[in-house]
Amino acid sequence: MEPIRIELTIGWSMGSVNCYLFTHPEVILIDAGVKSEACWAELVDGLAANGVAVGDISRVVVTHPHVDHFGLAGRIVAESDATVWISELGAPWLTDMPAMWAARMAYYRRDLLPPVGLPPKTNEAILRDMKGLAAAADPVPAERVVTFRADGLLQMGGRGWRVIHTPGHAAAQTVFYQPETRQLLSADMLLAVTPAPVIDHPAPGEKRAPALPLFLRSLAAMETLAVDTVHPGHGRPFGDHHEVISRQRARILGRQAQCLDLIRDGRTTIPELLDQMYAHQPPESRVAGLWMLIGYLDLLLADGAIVEEMLGDVTHYRAV
Ligand SMILES: [Zn+2]
Repeated sequence: MEPIRIELTIGWSMGSVNCYLFTHPEVILIDAGVKSEACWAELVDGLAANGVAVGDISRVVVTHPHVDHFGLAGRIVAESDATVWISELGAPWLTDMPAMWAARMAYYRRDLLPPVGLPPKTNEAILRDMKGLAAAADPVPAERVVTFRADGLLQMGGRGWRVIHTPGHAAAQTVFYQPETRQLLSADMLLAVTPAPVIDHPAPGEKRAPALPLFLRSLAAMETLAVDTVHPGHGRPFGDHHEVISRQRARILGRQAQCLDLIRDGRTTIPELLDQMYAHQPPESRVAGLWMLIGYLDLLLADGAIVEEMLGDVTHYRAV
């Protein structure tokens, strides 16, 4: 059987997020919206439209530990006997949520944001938004969490789904692929529009993983799959995933080239590059492009096309 899409309204990102339902042989919900009364009501209605209730759910399977995908998991387990399944890479975000958010925010505040050189009040706004996100999910009791391997196999809807680890948008992103029916539950790895990479804090003493280069590698992995239907984390299911992937890759490489041209023209800091690369946006909205821009810079650094150096307190980029 095909997974049944239940679309839930959220107040940011693309306006809605999908969960997917299998009703047989057991009731499995893939992803679980954000923590809000509106989302909960839509979930309850969506389940009822398919003849099931929250209490019937035996498993919630989480694709990646972002709040719009697991925000209601804690409430579901409180109102059912369900367990929550997530890859071992993502599990700490469910069971150890306050510590994970504290670590991410400390990394952004201390390490990631200051050398970017944006005004302090912009950095504060970024951290405030992050705090808001942290409140959009309940933790899940550890004894209700079951972990699976990021290269494992899940039984859902009477078939085996391959788990594939696809870092980029999230370090712990997994997608689920069903080879016989050629279906891909792609979560936020493959959407109709490229999702911004979310920078995860590195383990203590390590460097951060460059998210956009990882995303491109994961896109290439998705390209090798034989897929008839992509069931994405946001938006409607779609068919031609090769076309979607080529388009996204071309756009990323085009923007990367544009970024290099600007650096050659003497825009050497992120604030200067943001103003140029996102000139089509009003100045106060350009910061939303920060994560993609850091990604383009990561790609250029990885290619050896630019080097970075600290001048004063701010990172400058130079073409080589
Ligand atoms: Zn999402």
